[in-house]
Amino acid sequence: MSYAHELINRAVSMNPAEFEFHQAVEEVMLSLQPLFAREPKYQEHRIGERVLEPERQIIFAVPWIDDKGDMRINRGFRIQFNSALGPYKGGFRFHPSVTQGMLKFLGFEMIFKNSLTGLAIGGAKGGCNFDPKGKSDSEIMHFCQSFMTELFRYLGPNTDIPAGDIGVGAREIGYMFGQYKRLTTRFEGVLTGKNAKWGGSFGRTEATGYGVVYMADNMLKARKKALDGMVCAVSGSGNVATYTVEKLYHYGAKPITLSDSQGMIHHPAGINLEVLKQVKEVERARLTRYAELCKDAVYTSAAQYPQGRNAVWSVPCQAAFPCATQNEINEDDAKQLLANGCCLVAEGANMPSTTKAVDAFLAAGIAYAPGKAANAGGVATSQLEMAQNASMQQWSFETVDSKIKEIMSHIFTTIHNTAEEFGQPGNYMLGANIAGFRKVADAMIEQGSV
Ligand code: NAP
Repeated sequence: MSYAHELINRAVSMNPAEFEFHQAVEEVMLSLQPLFAREPKYQEHRIGERVLEPERQIIFAVPWIDDKGDMRINRGFRIQFNSALGPYKGGFRFHPSVTQGMLKFLGFEMIFKNSLTGLAIGGAKGGCNFDPKGKSDSEIMHFCQSFMTELFRYLGPNTDIPAGDIGVGAREIGYMFGQYKRLTTRFEGVLTGKNAKWGGSFGRTEATGYGVVYMADNMLKARKKALDGMVCAVSGSGNVATYTVEKLYHYGAKPITLSDSQGMIHHPAGINLEVLKQVKEVERARLTRYAELCKDAVYTSAAQYPQGRNAVWSVPCQAAFPCATQNEINEDDAKQLLANGCCLVAEGANMPSTTKAVDAFLAAGIAYAPGKAANAGGVATSQLEMAQNASMQQWSFETVDSKIKEIMSHIFTTIHNTAEEFGQPGNYMLGANIAGFRKVADAMIEQGSV
């Protein structure tokens, strides 16, 4: 049995119910096979086994009182996965579907994503099975305070610096930062995604979505093509989707779809960015509200999607930007995209394509960038926020944006060259996994058995 298969079996047998984690491990380990064959030192040092095991996992109760005075209880997690390259870095997800296995998949991906940025940050993820939907501001604040009351002792600007993810935006980061400051009496850069008025970085809100489009631009340039004039399908309608849409317009492309967990929008005239921001950032409403405000947009509820399909991917497009959640493109969705002439997929979400969907994209030879490369602009800008906090400076939006652009080009060059080095030009899944892993693995060997 190959070393990669031994590692996949180990991940499954040691973590039986963690299905998303199994999927992420399988994807990474299978693409590392050519590296393991070339460099036996990784197996000799048991790097595969070590990288599968989080350095620390914190699981804790989050009690809080709702507006009616009733006691509520949730389960919080922080997975401090790997610190070979720097302090732990990765967001918090607040969503009812959160489990330890989901956060382990996300934390595992962060190790290699953060490595690809070229910056000194390790991999982590955290979150809670708390549902922010329908909660009042006061309930969100009390929940965030309780969450931080337990977790603050494990964090620090050189130890672990969380950020946002699904369900965690500037409001939640603000409440958690306030509680950290109260508990420690320290105003320090312990969370990123803070408001730019008090310690945040300009450009952090836009960073992930902008970065996804910069990655798409790099991939297309390598193929002597451009985004200008391309019709694009975007899923999601949160932070990543919104700023992907915004940057696509800057490049002259036309985004025509959005989605949330209840349904999707098809707006053939092009997504109205102003309305999207009003509905999602100001009103915190559903996409049905977008359809009320844009009469020429068509809303389809998730209940009306064809069986086993995500209707976003049936809308003909030349480029696809999945920006909602994991496994939102299955094999049939991928085949439909390809049949409709889609020639580029850049993943804003983490692991939005199933293994079979990725296989279909790679077999078709389209420009495909996995999430760990395409959505790394967010975490990279979080590291820029840390640098600004540490030096007590604030850079302009333009300075940060040009650095994001540079980092995304650096990531593209790295994954492109690594895919060529291993004889599979254009296979950016392989390029991203090998380049991301190799740097972490070498650091682990040099730091000894710790
Ligand atoms: P967000 O602002 O909370 O938005 C999430 C969006 O995805 C919402 O439209 C949400 O719809 C939708 N969604 C969530 N679960 C879904 C499901 N099961 N089915 C269909 N739609 C679903 O979160 P975000 O920050 O944009 O994150 C989106 C993705 O990008 C995630 O995979 C995240 O890990 C990844 N990511 C984010 C960042 C970042 O900087 N924020 C960085 C790198 C990667 P509802 O409102 O109906 O739930």
